[in-house]
Amino acid sequence: MTRELISPEKRSYHKEYNIVFRFVEDPNSGYSFPCNAQGTVSLETLPPSAVNNYIACCLGDVNGHQVTLVGISEETIAVVENAVIRCDCGQPLELVDWYASECVHCGREYNGGGQLLGRYPVKILEQE
Ligand SMILES: [Zn+2]
Repeated sequence: MTRELISPEKRSYHKEYNIVFRFVEDPNSGYSFPCNAQGTVSLETLPPSAVNNYIACCLGDVNGHQVTLVGISEETIAVVENAVIRCDCGQPLELVDWYASECVHCGREYNGGGQLLGRYPVKILEQE
């Protein structure tokens, strides 16, 4: 039996950027801070300790250790909105897991394709 599909799974992609600094004496470690594509860091969104580190990196010295600007890294992030079906009890159910998603209203379980799994929970059998 096919359930009503309230909304299909949606996948979207967006870019995230970080400005990257490395220690001169240890290029395998350093700092990175979220920024826009042009490398501008929004200081209001950083915790105070990160603001201090960012300022120190821009000045080229963190606690007596020289740092250098490497550049801006770009990462593509996938965002998935799960499909939502109408459960046999009438309530919407987000399919959060490919194997089994349970309706909090009635206890029925569905797989990621929206197919009902197994038998109805005992509380449903008693009601019907
Ligand atoms: Zn239900």
